[in-house]
Amino acid sequence: MLETIRAQGAIARIDIARETGMSPATVTAISAELLEAGLIREVQPEAKPTTGKRGRPRVSLALRGDAHKIAGIKVAHSSITVLVIDFEGNELVDHDMPLVQARMEPEQLCNAIVTALEQCCRKGSIGLADISGLCVGMAGLVDATRNFVYWSSSLTSRNVDMGAHLGQHLNCAIFVENDANLVAKAEHLFGKGRDVSDFIVITIEHGVGMGVVIDDEIYRGTRGCGAEFGHTKVQLSGALCQCGQRGCLEAYVGDYALLREARLLSDEATPQSIGQLSAAAREGDALAGSILERAGRMFAMGLANIINIFDPELIIVSGTHSSMDYLLTPQVIEEMRQSVVQVDAPLPEVVQHSWGQLMWAKGAAAYAVEKVSAQCVRRLVLDAV
Ligand SMILES: [Zn+2]
Repeated sequence: MLETIRAQGAIARIDIARETGMSPATVTAISAELLEAGLIREVQPEAKPTTGKRGRPRVSLALRGDAHKIAGIKVAHSSITVLVIDFEGNELVDHDMPLVQARMEPEQLCNAIVTALEQCCRKGSIGLADISGLCVGMAGLVDATRNFVYWSSSLTSRNVDMGAHLGQHLNCAIFVENDANLVAKAEHLFGKGRDVSDFIVITIEHGVGMGVVIDDEIYRGTRGCGAEFGHTKVQLSGALCQCGQRGCLEAYVGDYALLREARLLSDEATPQSIGQLSAAAREGDALAGSILERAGRMFAMGLANIINIFDPELIIVSGTHSSMDYLLTPQVIEEMRQSVVQVDAPLPEVVQHSWGQLMWAKGAAAYAVEKVSAQCVRRLVLDAV
């Protein structure tokens, strides 16, 4: 019911009953509990000029923004981004803290996350104790059901109970999730996937991630390790991937792979960023051009594989840098089209969506709000028993 109210902004009890299929009596009972718990508030109808209609104007229910403050945190390769929102989803303050080291021991990473959160709270004059819940989005293999990280390019160790580590520093609800899933969440709630039930988000940054939305829900797989598009194999005994295996797609498409290739093949000053590599290719540098072209061809093969497996309505290619144009050129789309099983129906739409780091944090915050809401409701139900 909280999600229905969140989606509508303000909604009358009778309309909640219609939307959720619950009886009006049940809606009245639950809303009384939510009002008492301080999670929602009543919104009085505005006085309207007489319309000739009879009956009392309806009181609507809306979320109480000040009920909770929630943080969304994205751990990237070179920075940690924090966004604090209220229970209604209003953005209160955000902060970006640069990281000196990309890979860290779990304790070191936890310290960095807490420091970034403290700096953000200070910036917004919010007490750390006022944060009810947070979600940390990380690249890698994450079992979100138990906040457990099997492997991440941000950690030097495998099999890390991030939830427990963070719990030693912070006294609030803690959630850890794969970062690409959080982008899928953000796209579904605020972005290009808003009115789409089945879509796929591909994230391109240091590595390559994927979020799969089926029937409006994120699909995670049995162990929480599904949708690892970046680690699908595209070459037998191929290039070394940061996961330790060979021939993964991201070992041909990820930022690190392209810069590694440029370093290996050139004696001259090599580009330090994908932006520089793209600029060199545009200026006619043959080596830079061939590296980006191969990345595009590998990506086309990956896209075709996704369409052949999932047949989604939409594929959103999302990234934090706008220099991924080389992955969605007309040639890449044409190669993809040729590798897709041929039927007499239009191909899924493939669109590009370049957002900043804040997108990831926003997805993380939205996920944490959902989880905190669910915990509040569970507590209410348990109290009622
Ligand atoms: Zn890999």
